[in-house]
Amino acid sequence: MSLGPVSRNDETAAFFDGTARGELLLRTCPSGHWSEPEAACCTTCGVTDLSWSASKGTGRVVSWSAVHGRPRDDGSADRRVIAVVELDEGPWWWTALQDVEQPSEGLRVQVAFTVPAEDSETVPYFVPA
Ligand SMILES: [Zn+2]
Repeated sequence: MSLGPVSRNDETAAFFDGTARGELLLRTCPSGHWSEPEAACCTTCGVTDLSWSASKGTGRVVSWSAVHGRPRDDGSADRRVIAVVELDEGPWWWTALQDVEQPSEGLRVQVAFTVPAEDSETVPYFVPA
């Protein structure tokens, strides 16, 4: 897998504290709407009073693409799959998709976590459910 390294800043610290615990944190408003971690206001009702809540970490593939690396001398090459996943809570998530040769629209997936480099934060990716 080719991810990261990823580092935190003040705005991402709470999110990466969550990934280190194995939680995919999203933003929620007092009305219970879910928004992406980077949301400054609720993407449904617009309020700015957001808190962090753990997603179930499950969803379905909306779209995907394969990214092929440069061929090696023996002709082999790395192949990565990137995908857009619609989380069951609603927000869409750009992600690496692992352990699936041929993804399909609607494929059920679940979050997994990795530390891609020694100096990196824990990073979410998705695998088939
Ligand atoms: Zn809301």
